[in-house]
Amino acid sequence: MSIESLRKILELECGRSYDNKAVIGGLDKYLHCQAACIRQGVDDPQLLNEFDQLNLSGSDYSSWDTDQRRAWIAQGLAWLSKLEASEEGAAVPGHVHGIHGYSSSHGSSGTAVRAVTEVRPEQRDILDLPVTVMKGITPGIADRLAKLNVRTVYDLLYLLPRRYLDYTRRKSISELVVAEEQTVIGTIWQARVAVLGNRRGTEAIVGDETGNVRVVWFNQPYLARTFRTNATIAISGTVSEFRGTKVFESPAWELLKDKELIHTGRLVPVYPLTQGLYPRQVRKWTRDAVDSYAQQLGEFLPAGIRVRCGFPDLPVAISQVHYPDDSETAREARRRLAFDELLLLQLGVLARKRDWQEGQPGHALRMDREAMNRFLHSLPFTLTPAQERVLQEILGDLQQKKAMSRLLQGEVGSGKTVIATLALLMAAANGYQGALMAPTEVLAEQHYANLCNHLSRICEQEPAQGLNSTQGTDLHGGIVRRYTGLLPRPLTIALLVGSLSSSAKEALHRTISRGEVDIVLGTHALIQKEVKFKKLGLAVVDEQHRFGVVQRSALRQKGFNPHVLVMTATPIPRTMALTLYGDLDLSVIDELPPGRQVVRTRQLDARDRQKAYSFIRRQVSNGRQAFVICPLVEESEALEAKAATSEYERLSREVFPELRLGLLHGQMPGSEKDEMMRRFRSGEVDILVSTSVVEVGIDVPRASVMLIEGAERFGLSQLHQFRGRVGRDKEQAYCLLIMEKASPEAGARLQLMERVHDGFVLAEKDLELRGPGEFFGTHQSGLPDLKLARLTDLPSLELARKEAMALFQSDPDLRRPEHQPLRQRLSRAWSGSAEWS
Ligand code: ADP
Ligand code: MG
Repeated sequence: MSIESLRKILELECGRSYDNKAVIGGLDKYLHCQAACIRQGVDDPQLLNEFDQLNLSGSDYSSWDTDQRRAWIAQGLAWLSKLEASEEGAAVPGHVHGIHGYSSSHGSSGTAVRAVTEVRPEQRDILDLPVTVMKGITPGIADRLAKLNVRTVYDLLYLLPRRYLDYTRRKSISELVVAEEQTVIGTIWQARVAVLGNRRGTEAIVGDETGNVRVVWFNQPYLARTFRTNATIAISGTVSEFRGTKVFESPAWELLKDKELIHTGRLVPVYPLTQGLYPRQVRKWTRDAVDSYAQQLGEFLPAGIRVRCGFPDLPVAISQVHYPDDSETAREARRRLAFDELLLLQLGVLARKRDWQEGQPGHALRMDREAMNRFLHSLPFTLTPAQERVLQEILGDLQQKKAMSRLLQGEVGSGKTVIATLALLMAAANGYQGALMAPTEVLAEQHYANLCNHLSRICEQEPAQGLNSTQGTDLHGGIVRRYTGLLPRPLTIALLVGSLSSSAKEALHRTISRGEVDIVLGTHALIQKEVKFKKLGLAVVDEQHRFGVVQRSALRQKGFNPHVLVMTATPIPRTMALTLYGDLDLSVIDELPPGRQVVRTRQLDARDRQKAYSFIRRQVSNGRQAFVICPLVEESEALEAKAATSEYERLSREVFPELRLGLLHGQMPGSEKDEMMRRFRSGEVDILVSTSVVEVGIDVPRASVMLIEGAERFGLSQLHQFRGRVGRDKEQAYCLLIMEKASPEAGARLQLMERVHDGFVLAEKDLELRGPGEFFGTHQSGLPDLKLARLTDLPSLELARKEAMALFQSDPDLRRPEHQPLRQRLSRAWSGSAEWS
């Protein structure tokens, strides 16, 4: 349990207006569990004392009214801030940055400017200078800053504080009040090393014209040397009472040389840090950077927007975000900078969309209602209303001259495939080719088999060239099939996957390039450079989150501005739809076909593992199958594979010696993976032990139970995807979650899995609890970084989108002279992006 996550929970509860829902099961239970754990991490006696007064373990939050709750949470947060502040203080060894660094800091801006002129500013943007031009930043420190992605002066200006410590309440010493956070400025009368408790620390007497106060710092004896008698010092912190006299305990401090305060007496910025960087150093550098360079940032927002939104100028915003005059200006500055990020994101996304759609005209398709209806009638079900609606949206797009760019989102099992299939048929009916790319061979084959199945109900099958005899896979009926009776001419369907023999592949490439195949279903094999379509009119990407940005656009590029449909079962929260996917139109299938079961989900204690195994055994003896998912090993497929292999061996030998087990992991060659999936699907394997590779799209109707080990390591959305693999038929299905490292937070998160079966709600929760980075994993690259803007902030997003659209309408290429700074800034923001270039 980290202090950081306690803060998150408390802040979340604030944000929810104290409805006691920040933690499933209520705050009380959670806090009772946490109390001891947090207490252990605090060693400052004063803080411990205050912590005990908060009485986490005995609190009765659920029975309080809102006012009581508010007051209590505020106390909790105040305490956290103090704890964090005291940790900062403790992290500053005197020799790294004490008074010495300080006294010399005066000349810093002069030095920096000199350094600038030496590198010929006309050839280089000054802001792109390396941070080492700043006084006190050695190459070693630059390396540490690089860990925070700070390499240039510009980066340093944009190293934004995470929050502020409020040290604004300045008092004279006689006015000090116990238990309040206050700042005094006085003279050091005396400073010495003292034994405090049973450790060495520093004790000082500080006085002003109204009186004297004792100040102690625990565990920091070196400060005694730093504090010279008669020096002026600012002290910020909470005053306590010790044997009847007031005392500051381990307060923040700052020696003063008639300069502006940066560590005390104001809103003090708290920066993200990394090993070997200390808060006081970083503050000094950002202060210097702001003083020397903020003005040079210039302004890139058009005046109209600035005025309409009431934003401060950029240099003001940057300087206020670091060293705000008060919390209001800090808020304004942050609002402006967050808007900048969102506007740049929106402009980029809109430009990308326009380039796709208007670069060249697309192909307007005609509706072939008759073929469409015949196909629909061949299905063993009728479309759900949601499927109908989405189908109309897509068919509407296809009839436009603009190329479609649409994201189809729908819960696992909501029936996206049939919608894609209808769109592909429409392309074929218009004489165009259609392609569908799936992430695995098994899935591509599944799509192929299903489509052929449907078609064989309404069509005659004709032999299709000599192709089928040349290939070596066991696809009964071959990799190309031709159907007559649906369209006025024969309809040819093909399967293109990597494991085909090379002669089969070559032959297939030829027929595709001659336009003799109408619909190709396949894997990555579709985007190999040998594959050339004669007339690709529609590209569909299934399970799009399994593909990289580059692969997705590679399929698009196989045609001449084809319509594009990407499909995903990962729900996209609305805010994300506006940003990360802002270049796509969004269709959502928000209901499941009738009669679907919810997968009964239970969290189990590690001690109950044996029960889980007996349960699996019973299911298997009833003719069912099971998945066992092994924990995620971040960043290492190799380790993950190893762990899965040993789990597989253990289960085969010790737990289920009488059953047939199979193993699946990402390090196996594709053909072996597919072979294993085939065996599982056909029932030759009872229990499939797998890593997360099994996540996607596969239908194994007899699988009824999934055991997920190390469940706390997965995101909620991913867990939801996993469990979508079971319960594909009428029988009740089960998902068992076992934590590797149990913690109350993880427990609370997993409890959501038990109660919530709506993937959309789970995705929103994921986003809230883990943030967008984690939500999308490492796949989601190629977009500018958001530092301040929160993707959950819908009003700001909508404002940015509105302004971006207006700009886009008036000056789409940003050619006007007044838009030049914006244009430059836009290309800077998107310079790291794969798709932009
Ligand atoms: P997903 O959206 O996860 O890709 P699929 O397209 O694979 O889902 O559909 C899951 C299953 O539901 C398939 O077996 C499909 O035939 C079936 N299905 C699709 N639409 C309907 C419907 N309207 N009514 C009943 N079953 C449907
Ligand atoms: Mg699917």
